[in-house]
Amino acid sequence: MKAAPFEYVRPGTLAEASAALGRDGITTAAIAGGQSLLPMLNLRVAFIDLLVDISRLEELRAVTETPDGLHIGALTTHAAIEDGKVPDLFGGLLRRVAGQISYRAVRNHGTIGGSVALADPAADWPGCLMALGASVRIAGRDGVRSEPVSEFVRDAYTTSLATGEIILGFDLPRPDAPLRWGFAKVARKSGAFASSIAFVVARGKGGPVSVVLTAAASRAHSCSQTAEQLEQGAGSDEALRRAIASDLLTFAQDADSYQQRLHTATILRAIREWRAQ
Ligand SMILES: Cc1cc2nc3c(=O)[nH]c(=O)nc-3n(C[C@H](O)[C@H](O)[C@H](O)COP(=O)(O)OP(=O)(O)OC[C@H]3O[C@@H](n4cnc5c(N)ncnc54)[C@H](O)[C@@H]3O)c2cc1C
Repeated sequence: MKAAPFEYVRPGTLAEASAALGRDGITTAAIAGGQSLLPMLNLRVAFIDLLVDISRLEELRAVTETPDGLHIGALTTHAAIEDGKVPDLFGGLLRRVAGQISYRAVRNHGTIGGSVALADPAADWPGCLMALGASVRIAGRDGVRSEPVSEFVRDAYTTSLATGEIILGFDLPRPDAPLRWGFAKVARKSGAFASSIAFVVARGKGGPVSVVLTAAASRAHSCSQTAEQLEQGAGSDEALRRAIASDLLTFAQDADSYQQRLHTATILRAIREWRAQ
């Protein structure tokens, strides 16, 4: 199918882009890599009057390392991260996640900003950025604001982005000790969106642990009881299974027994990888 007709602009400045996106009385959308938006328009599950191409906005391309951490511009592609063009402060986690997103053709165009803005419940970046304690930097008509990714993503395909706002990028705090992580992802076929993704991240040995599960509910969720077990050094699979079951009850009550076993196995696999580091 072909998309319904729309207007197209490619602004050169953030102010112009924000003004175009905020035009009254019409439906607008930013386009970054187009990997999700174009199929949605072509299949006519999304309709817009004005497409605002943000690819000329240099502010969205910045990748900068500071003493506090790393800023990754919204237009950074999955392929750039996979290829190591982004400094690695996180023991290789970003490269591993990027390299497992879909196919290389999608990774060449798809961006980290587009992924988080879309907030697909099975997308990799929202959960990964949550596990790393990242914030999203957003530009709008009233200036720039920042919000933790865990709060920015509200629900399936729903974020706190207001009309006219654009994601500039993500701020990832520098770990104060070497990062240990585990990442496990199950998809029905290679290159497809996942049925379950688990991240386990900890700073050093004995540091705070973050466990995040994606694709189990309408958005990624922290598994706080499982994390607590790991922080207390609880070793047995039995204790962990009980903690995972309690966590699933808080945000994935509708999971059937197959899904419960799947998510449990994914989290345990990520924990095993984390422990081996
Ligand atoms: C076959 C296929 C398989 C895929 N598999 C996976 C997978 O396994 N895991 C995964 O995580 N992803 C997967 N994806 C999604 C892909 O990785 C992209 O991340 C995703 O398409 C969005 O990035 P984009 O740059 O293409 O955004 P676009 O398609 O251009 O835009 C997506 C949405 O984000 C908005 N947007 C984009 N950039 C900004 C910005 N800077 N500020 C505000 N709003 C913005 C747009 O308005 C639109 O609503 C898959 C996609 C395809 C086509």
